[in-house]
Amino acid sequence: MPLSHITFHRPDFGMEELQLVEEVLKSGWVTSGPKVREFEEAIKDYVNCPCTVALNSCTAAMHVALAGWGVGPGDEVITTPFTFCATVEAIEYVGATPVLADIDPLTGNIDPECVREKLSERTKVIIPVHYAGLPCELGKLGDIAKANNLKILEDAALALGSSLNGRRIGAHSDAVAFSFYATKNLSTGEGGMLACQDEAFADKCRRLSLHGMNRDAWKRYGAGGKWYYEICELGFKYNLTDIAAAMGIAQLGKLERANDRRREIAAAYIAAFRKIPFINPFQWDLSNEVVHNRHLFPLVLKLDALSIDRERFIEQLGEAGIGTSVHYIPIYRHPYYRDRYNFDSGEYPNTESIYSAVISLPIYPALDDEDVQRVIEAVKRIGFMHQK
Ligand SMILES: *Cc1c(COP(=O)(O)O)cnc(C)c1O
Repeated sequence: MPLSHITFHRPDFGMEELQLVEEVLKSGWVTSGPKVREFEEAIKDYVNCPCTVALNSCTAAMHVALAGWGVGPGDEVITTPFTFCATVEAIEYVGATPVLADIDPLTGNIDPECVREKLSERTKVIIPVHYAGLPCELGKLGDIAKANNLKILEDAALALGSSLNGRRIGAHSDAVAFSFYATKNLSTGEGGMLACQDEAFADKCRRLSLHGMNRDAWKRYGAGGKWYYEICELGFKYNLTDIAAAMGIAQLGKLERANDRRREIAAAYIAAFRKIPFINPFQWDLSNEVVHNRHLFPLVLKLDALSIDRERFIEQLGEAGIGTSVHYIPIYRHPYYRDRYNFDSGEYPNTESIYSAVISLPIYPALDDEDVQRVIEAVKRIGFMHQK
């Protein structure tokens, strides 16, 4: 009997999500309302931050944060090239200029020293991205921000449940954007959340997320609500639905268990690959200041020990029935950004070397031990077959 295909990702939805979504549908209120407020409170308590604003994506969360601070044309925002396009898109949306700083080759995270080199009079914000869910060096980045009067907006799309120095990601910076997209550790199909430190800023972002309206629609339509509202600024349509929030509440209840299972799978991969000569120990040995939610498992090949390239390795894993992906195609390689800013890949040697060698292996709670063993065996077999 042929072995089944191990997909790159499978979401973990069950009765809990169905039940809460059913309640929302039966309640007759499906857009932003009581469930969204409940979900905001739940994430606030979970990450232990002062305020949260629910949005319909992480991209939206980053956009309203930058807009809320008044970042705009003429301003520069420093971020990493080793990220999903959404990070840089948010910078483009407000008309600011993205400036890219290279990564640390052991973690894939933005290198604070490279950030320092890219500072200018125009720099307003740093956007660190927690690559694969591993926390960035927020201490060093915070020092740079403080010394230069900059804001930090964390792109924590992958980092819910990770922590640094005993505090969860979400509690550290001026603003932190989470994603609840289909593949993330907590998923509402599409969704996002902004965690921030100050209520006035949270209110501003919430207003921007709903047309710049001066009161919430759900208050308008609730008992005793009034029909009148005013538009005092140009806003966006970025609010989360109660349907999505209900899913999020159910998912949050499972998050710790799910992340524990991810860590178990990561530990099995690391133990199996530790003595393999053609694999780079990328993100394996972590400092004890860090808890990693293991959103992704990036397998980094030592290409000079192999006679095949990353593309061929991925093809052969595919032939063995194993789905993989690549995170991420560096920003400066995308034609839109390359042509617009004349980015030169030679400026980002660490991003180039990790990008050319990285493969994301399957890692999610629905993967059983047998699946994990099959992935390990396939990686070993393909690598040893093509060792130099
Ligand atoms: C998924 C992802 C995003 C985008 O999240 P959305 O909720 O889809 O907007 C942003 N940044 C990174 C690093 C991501 O991986």
